[in-house]
Amino acid sequence: MTQRREEIRDNLVVVRERISAACTHAGRSPDEVTIVVVTKFFPASDVRLLAELGVREVGENRHQEAETKAAECADLGLVWHFIGNLQSNKAAAVATYADVVESVDRTKLVGPLNRGADQRGRDLDCLLQVNLDEASQTGRSGIRADRVTELAERVLQAGALRLRGVMGVAPLGKPPAPAFARLAEVAAHVRRTAPHATWVSGGMSADLEEAVKHGATHVRIGSAVLGPRPSIK
Ligand SMILES: *Cc1c(COP(=O)(O)O)cnc(C)c1O
Repeated sequence: MTQRREEIRDNLVVVRERISAACTHAGRSPDEVTIVVVTKFFPASDVRLLAELGVREVGENRHQEAETKAAECADLGLVWHFIGNLQSNKAAAVATYADVVESVDRTKLVGPLNRGADQRGRDLDCLLQVNLDEASQTGRSGIRADRVTELAERVLQAGALRLRGVMGVAPLGKPPAPAFARLAEVAAHVRRTAPHATWVSGGMSADLEEAVKHGATHVRIGSAVLGPRPSIK
């Protein structure tokens, strides 16, 4: 076994134990929580190792890198999550290889995502990214909570999109618990419009315990599995 494979295997064991412990605390079953390993900046060879080690879902945040890696790893049958800021002129292209787009944060994305999914000939799972940083209402980090219903309705009306739930990133440098509590509230609100939209993607390497405590069904884990990211190119 290569050193890299051992390192990833050991890290996965630790992350799975952390999720189990958090689930036990919260009275939840670990089966309710899906790990999406965030592979941004890491090579396709790592994605291959992850697949060998039983990981089924991976996440990427930049279109070009994601497109290339998904093509290189097409034989693995993984579920590809797009988790990054999405430009509307790239949205249709993302929908042709991503299986889940977690960062739907404005109505302008709905048309192109729907077109891309149509072109691919299969429905695209979508999460609404909610802004969890009350202090920054710039919209770059998700839609404002009070506009989520409108966006949910637009996604529901698009023929090739499946509204699955919500996603959020806890603000940096603040305690994550209030952010994940907020995400849970917004998730419940969305379920009133779309009862089947049960996914809640919250939690990263540093705060997965708080996210699981507040009902996350998906955690997006990068550095705790793959190590520190190589510096931004
Ligand atoms: C990079 C990234 C992650 C993973 O972050 P880690 O702290 O490395 O676990 C999760 N979510 C999003 C949206 C990201 O961009």
